[in-house]
Amino acid sequence: MPHAPLEIVTVPCLQDNYAFLLHDPGSGETALVDAPEAAPIAQVLKARGWGLDHIWLTHHHWDHVDGLEVLRGAFGAAVLGAAQDAARLPALDHALKGGGQFVFAGQPVHVLDVPGHTIGHIAFHLPQSAAVFTADSLMAMGCGRLFEGSPEQMWESLQNLMALPPETMVYSGHEYTASNCKFALTIDPHNRDLISRVGQVTENRRNGVPTVPSLLGQELLTNPFLRPDAPQIKAALGMEDATALEVFTQIRARKDKF
Ligand code: ZN
Ligand code: FE
Repeated sequence: MPHAPLEIVTVPCLQDNYAFLLHDPGSGETALVDAPEAAPIAQVLKARGWGLDHIWLTHHHWDHVDGLEVLRGAFGAAVLGAAQDAARLPALDHALKGGGQFVFAGQPVHVLDVPGHTIGHIAFHLPQSAAVFTADSLMAMGCGRLFEGSPEQMWESLQNLMALPPETMVYSGHEYTASNCKFALTIDPHNRDLISRVGQVTENRRNGVPTVPSLLGQELLTNPFLRPDAPQIKAALGMEDATALEVFTQIRARKDKF
C-alpha cells in the first residue's frame, strides 16, 4: 500500500536559505533536510508539537549544517549524510551511498549522487511524495556554483534529476530565483514559458512568497541550465554546432560572471 504523501514545511533560514521539514501525520515521524540554523527550525517544531527523528544532510557547506548540533542535542535526531563526505560532515549516524535507498515513515527515500557544487553532494528523492530535495545542485531557474566539481559532473547530475517524473516538486536550498530569472533572460530571451515564469516570480517575491519548491516540469521548460540542447539557446550563444556539455559549460561560466 503506498503511503499518503508527507506533509512538507518550508523553513526560511539565515539570509536566503531554506530547510524543509517532512512530517508523516500517521506515524508522527518528522525529518529535516539540512540545518542552516537551529532557531527557526526548532520554532516550527515547537509550534506544531513535532519531534525530530531524522536530519538529512545534502552537503558539507556551513549554511546547510551549522544548526545541526543544537537540533541533534535538543531532539536526539539521527543524522544521515553522504558516506563519501563523512570526514567533513558532522558525525553521521547513518552514512548513505549514492544509488542506495532507505525507508522513512514507510516511504522509500532514494539517495542520488549529484556532484558538482561539492563532490559529495547528494539529493533525496521520495517518489511516493513526488518530491526531490536538491539543495545546491538543481535550483529554481538555476544550478549551484561549481566549487569542487567539473561542468561534466554537474551536467550529469542535472541529467539524472531531469529523468525524474516531471510532476516532481524540486526543493532547492536557496531563494536565488529572482536573480536567476534575470540571468535566464540573457540566455533564452524569446522563451515564452520563461517570460511568463519571470512574471510569476517577480510577483511572488514582491509579496514575500517563496519561489521554492518548483515543479520539475516547469524547470525543464524554463531553466537554461537544463536546456543546453535547445536550438534557440545554442543560436543565442552562437554555438549551433556545440554539444550540450559545451553549451552547459558556457552557460555556467557566464553565470559566474553575471
Ligand atoms: Zn552549498
Ligand atoms: Fe548553500
